[in-house]
Amino acid sequence: MAKKVRCNVRKHDDECPWYAQAETEEELMKKIEEHAENVHGIKDMSDEMLKEIKRSITEG
Ligand SMILES: [Zn+2]
Repeated sequence: MAKKVRCNVRKHDDECPWYAQAETEEELMKKIEEHAENVHGIKDMSDEMLKEIKRSITEG
């Protein structure tokens, strides 16, 4: 089963529509980190952000 996660960064009032899908959580986190850096300019995500993201991962 694939793991999926939606970007939960808000730009003004709009939620970022991006989401990622990967086979493993490790791979998924890599994609998220890339997206956060490229699109949102977030280079180092805090532990709190990472925890929040991991909590929102769904399988299916
Ligand atoms: Zn985003």
